[in-house]
Amino acid sequence: MTNQELADIMFPDVKHDVDYYEKLYPERNLPEGAVVSRFAPSPTGFVHMGSLLAALIESKVPKETGGVFYLRIEDTDGKRSVENGIQGIIDDLKNFDIEIDEGVISETEQKGSYGPYIQSERKEIYHTYAKHLVEEGLAYPCFCSQEEIDEVRKMQELNKERIGIYGSYAKCRFLTNEERAARIKKGEPYIVRLKSPGDFYKKVVLNDLVRGKIEFPENDMDVVLIKSDGLPLYHFAHVIDDHLMRTTHVLRGEEWVSSVPIHLQLFQVLGFTPPQYAHLGVVMKIDEDGTRRKLSKRKDPEAAVSYYHEQGIPVEAVKLYLMTIANSNFEGWWDQNPTLGIDDFHFDFKKMSLSGSLFDLEKLLNISRSYISRLRASEVYEKTLTWAKEFDFEFAHILEKYKDYSIAIFNIEREQKKPRKDFESFSTIKKNVWYMYDEYFTGELTYDFGKIQNPEEIRKILSTYLEDYYDECDDKDTWFSKIKELSTRLGYCSDMKEYKQNPDSYPGSVADVSTVIRVATTTSSMTPDLYEILKLLGKERIQKRFQKWM
Ligand code: GLU
Repeated sequence: MTNQELADIMFPDVKHDVDYYEKLYPERNLPEGAVVSRFAPSPTGFVHMGSLLAALIESKVPKETGGVFYLRIEDTDGKRSVENGIQGIIDDLKNFDIEIDEGVISETEQKGSYGPYIQSERKEIYHTYAKHLVEEGLAYPCFCSQEEIDEVRKMQELNKERIGIYGSYAKCRFLTNEERAARIKKGEPYIVRLKSPGDFYKKVVLNDLVRGKIEFPENDMDVVLIKSDGLPLYHFAHVIDDHLMRTTHVLRGEEWVSSVPIHLQLFQVLGFTPPQYAHLGVVMKIDEDGTRRKLSKRKDPEAAVSYYHEQGIPVEAVKLYLMTIANSNFEGWWDQNPTLGIDDFHFDFKKMSLSGSLFDLEKLLNISRSYISRLRASEVYEKTLTWAKEFDFEFAHILEKYKDYSIAIFNIEREQKKPRKDFESFSTIKKNVWYMYDEYFTGELTYDFGKIQNPEEIRKILSTYLEDYYDECDDKDTWFSKIKELSTRLGYCSDMKEYKQNPDSYPGSVADVSTVIRVATTTSSMTPDLYEILKLLGKERIQKRFQKWM
């Protein structure tokens, strides 16, 4: 029986040949040097920060070169797929402003002419190529049961041999086509294996864009191409898809490096040109006891991309931070070009860390503080409102009710050369400004009055201030000279230099007097500029809040 006849028995449903698909998905008509790259997650319902880093680079390089970035869903492992997994990925990309040129755009829609972009919808294509390999004598049906494979493994372990189905362990390699056809006709279940032409004692070389030249022994394993459910295993799907989608650059986690010999061999037996590979290091974390480990889906909430959206950490800050991980020279570049963005920076594979990068949430939050500090008050308002509408309805309502007042609050010590950097994320802004809203203000102290504790003294400071000094219309200088006058009048030192030299000659200083006013109006000592706060709170609120202490 010829291979062709066997192939027809194995794949009765295949309608086309490989030429058909080669023509259906022709070489892309792109400028010289254009990169075609993809983000190819499994729909596990979870996008890891390491994947977002990859997606960021995968989308950036095509943008820089006039190429194409697409999203492909790798759902051939049913065990890893969850309901709404695809939507979760699309949402995460959207939340991070990572736009795709082609691929899956919703659970039901795809765009682009190289699809379908969901692997489970490509069965016919995989079967066509598997059939082609059977015809060429480069693939065969394997009838071994799981127990038989386990037996082989046990024996190999016992003999201290390499584990896997290769050479004489690839039992079904040696069946005749007649035997194969007869077993298929009997209805025996089977999978399709590659008949590896490789020699373990020969070398194959990968020129990795990040890692440079790596030498491996050739693959000699008869790896599984098509599983018993008719779907391909990762290796086969990767090679077929990235060839037919005309991918030029495959960026993926370093856990795939060891599979490269299999992939290069598959490209070779199928007569395809392999893409360029860039294997990215893992994103790590240092535990409190100093051990380095992979940033973990289970242990670290900050490993999930959705975390940043929920916490209201600006997308731009996360991306800026990821770029500092991606390219070691990015941070210096951004310091020198604070008005430019990631799109203006040239990404270089050679400047990626090989050993994996350390994930530093504190640093990310610092970038977030800087980023938010550079926003205009109205932008902070809009972004906080957007966050609150999804995660804190009550605050969203308050923000909408007091729009101008809120913008003015956010403008305290902002839109100036050295803006205040106390907003870490949109979810924590409420923690910084709650006392400005009567709805949140309870009057309960979150801080005591500091040096001046005597209630009589506090009463005296507040009432004298209100009766003799407070004037809503004062500018900042006038306001401050009045606070100083008030201090002198009540026996406090109004000159900080003098006070530092002779602290014992006074019951306190102008700073302590300000603290009393600050705490009485806000119940907090951690506030920005008191003058601006008083101005915004306005006379009526100030009087009402002082009342409690007078
Ligand atoms: N689906 C693979 C994964 O999630 C993608 C690897 C690749 O990009 O080829 O690990």
